[in-house]
Amino acid sequence: MAHVVVLGAGLGGTIAAYELRDKLGADHSVSVVSNGNRFHFVPSNPWVGVGWRDKAAIEVDLDAVFAKRHIALHPQGAQRLHPKERRIELRDGGSISYDYLVIATGPELAFDEIDGFGPSGHTQSICHVDHALETKKAVDALIANPGPVVIGAVQGASCFGPAYEFAFILDKALRDAKVRDRVPMTFVTSEPYIGHLGLDGVGDTRGLLEGEMRQHHIKWICNARLDKVEKDKALVSEIAEDGSILKAHEVPQVFTMMLPAFRGIEALRGIEGLTNPRGFVLADTYQRNPAFPEVFSVGVCVAIPPVGKTPVPVGVPKTGFMIESMVTATVHNIDRLIHNQQPDAIASWNAVCLADFGDSGIAFVAQPQIPPRNVNWSSSGKWVHLAKIAFEKYFLHKVRSGKSEPFYERLAMQALGIEKLKEIKLDTEE
Ligand code: FAD
Repeated sequence: MAHVVVLGAGLGGTIAAYELRDKLGADHSVSVVSNGNRFHFVPSNPWVGVGWRDKAAIEVDLDAVFAKRHIALHPQGAQRLHPKERRIELRDGGSISYDYLVIATGPELAFDEIDGFGPSGHTQSICHVDHALETKKAVDALIANPGPVVIGAVQGASCFGPAYEFAFILDKALRDAKVRDRVPMTFVTSEPYIGHLGLDGVGDTRGLLEGEMRQHHIKWICNARLDKVEKDKALVSEIAEDGSILKAHEVPQVFTMMLPAFRGIEALRGIEGLTNPRGFVLADTYQRNPAFPEVFSVGVCVAIPPVGKTPVPVGVPKTGFMIESMVTATVHNIDRLIHNQQPDAIASWNAVCLADFGDSGIAFVAQPQIPPRNVNWSSSGKWVHLAKIAFEKYFLHKVRSGKSEPFYERLAMQALGIEKLKEIKLDTEE
């Protein structure tokens, strides 16, 4: 009997546990080590930030659903991984051993790398639901006392979609409150151009997003390095191709929300052969760590190199479809190892993204992620907003039901009749 442990119960970890449970059957045990017993659907956080969702609406109590599926939950969290001993040290001093491990710990948010940045400084965040709840309070204060706003993503960020989403969602919330005319908005981003998204653009994301920015009176600064945030201003250096400072900006702000750079969690950082210098987990094409072949990884914690050099560093996004594909490949490969076979499933590292703007949005598909691509498609419209709601509903249903049917999002797309997304293979059969 093999014991498979999943570390992390977010978007990748929960579905990995369900898929492992179904694939391995009763002969093998599945455990999850998590931070607490609640799942939160991170992609809904921008809506929480403006009060369009409350925490309960995007939260799932994992105790009951895991018990029903015979998945052991260890909510103490991991203090340190000891891969040579195949053991996770828990925060309460306990320990859990494994035969196979799936790391799905997502990002640690590197706010501390910039002076005055983050919820303990002068800016808001939507990366965690509790941050988004604080952001909602700050949005209420902004509506009561309108002033300049900065939205964007800092140097080293890899997650740009939510920054654009939040800019347009906040714009809508401020229009609804009839104060938008008193809120100058600036989008400050490390991307070399609007719509780069860490992917060197997809289809016409540059044209689409620049057009939306103009329509919504949002100014922008690209190639931006955030140096410091003070109570009433953001200090931003615009960086030239040769790395010199092209222009220093002092952007007035009473409200700032910028996506931080990510790094791997502390429990994994500095483990020789397991993680890169930023703490992301090294994985081969089978999602398997080369130094510790019983360790697999899925989701944001996986090390993926950037698509190319940019004046200010930007990372590659890891989104839901790609994470599901990593999960399916990982589960398949662990099952093969348990049955004395070699791994043979390769995840399709594509980027499929729905960026909601509150009443419309843009969607894009990049396959493969690095250009030139076989599929390089983007589109916009109200349907994206509806598709995003469907994505949320289907994913939460999946986590609450404990079922491992893959690609609920794809079913959602199909239900909405989005022809382009129907054509795209999102599973491991590519
Ligand atoms: P997470 O969902 O972050 O899960 C990691 C889990 O590991 C967490 O529960 C965490 O508590 C746990 N953990 C961390 N440390 C420990 C420890 N020491 N011990 C135990 N557990 C630990 N992608 C899309 O496809 N569509 C979107 O619309 C979208 N919107 C996004 C919006 C935002 C604001 C952000 C930040 C990302 C968004 N993404 C989106 C990208 C991506 O899909 C999400 O970040 C997703 O949550 C990543 O899944 P994950 O499993 O890798 O990490």
